[in-house]
Amino acid sequence: MKTLAFVAASLLALPAYAADFGSLLNKAQEAVNTYGQDAAGVVTEKSVDEERDIGRQWAETLLGAAPLWNNDKAQRYVNEVGLWLALHSERPELAWRFGVLDSPNVNAFATPGGYVFVTRGLLARMRSEAELAGVLSHEIAHVVRKHHLAAVRKAQGMSLGGKLLKQFAIKDKGNEQVNERLLGGLKEVMSRGLDKGDEYEADRMGVVIAARAGYDPYGLPGVLQTLQALGAQDSTLALMFATHPAPEARLEALDKAMGSSLDAYAAQPQLQARFQKSVGRP
Ligand SMILES: [Zn+2]
Repeated sequence: MKTLAFVAASLLALPAYAADFGSLLNKAQEAVNTYGQDAAGVVTEKSVDEERDIGRQWAETLLGAAPLWNNDKAQRYVNEVGLWLALHSERPELAWRFGVLDSPNVNAFATPGGYVFVTRGLLARMRSEAELAGVLSHEIAHVVRKHHLAAVRKAQGMSLGGKLLKQFAIKDKGNEQVNERLLGGLKEVMSRGLDKGDEYEADRMGVVIAARAGYDPYGLPGVLQTLQALGAQDSTLALMFATHPAPEARLEALDKAMGSSLDAYAAQPQLQARFQKSVGRP
């Protein structure tokens, strides 16, 4: 694995024709600089704990629907890969947690504050650690950009302002209603999906995070090609297809954004053997 300094230095050396990725990297830097205030002023330095509280409750709801896969080795491995990737994101300081859900369906989820889940069914469709890295990085990008909170705001037309989050954090009896609204928001987001533009953004950021972390950035496109080949008729993909743009559209958008700007990073490892050894037969 290459060192962070090496990867950062080589990303700075991206050629000029990588215009899209240059601006994406700049945007990421802006996010670091303004960390503590999103566009709506919702998440301040102080309310990271509140964001995490919401995320934990959402994660518990998800785990109620599908528990963690009973395979310590695979869980540890996915956590190690995920933490390494998160360290290369714009919010390395979050208390990131990764888990494999015991579900045959093909999907991946994240909740605010740094909880990321991938299903056993999706792991079974992957061929390498670079592909796992691509999927986890896509989810990490959703958390970094707070896409879920934006989706809840949009879905419910509610203002998740600082005041509401503060009330939520106090957790007295009067806040049950607020909790219900937030959890109701989760259900809606999980069934309807995030903003399509946010999905494309997470794809673009995902390949950059994977490249920064030392992986072949074509892992995510590889998974999207697999999903494309399986097709919308495969019932294990139903929720994934209902909540995401079609793999064809995502591949096309990613291809347009990437061009050949990340080709130099394609020589970075895919780690097929380590992946197979660590996840066994999901
Ligand atoms: Zn997504």
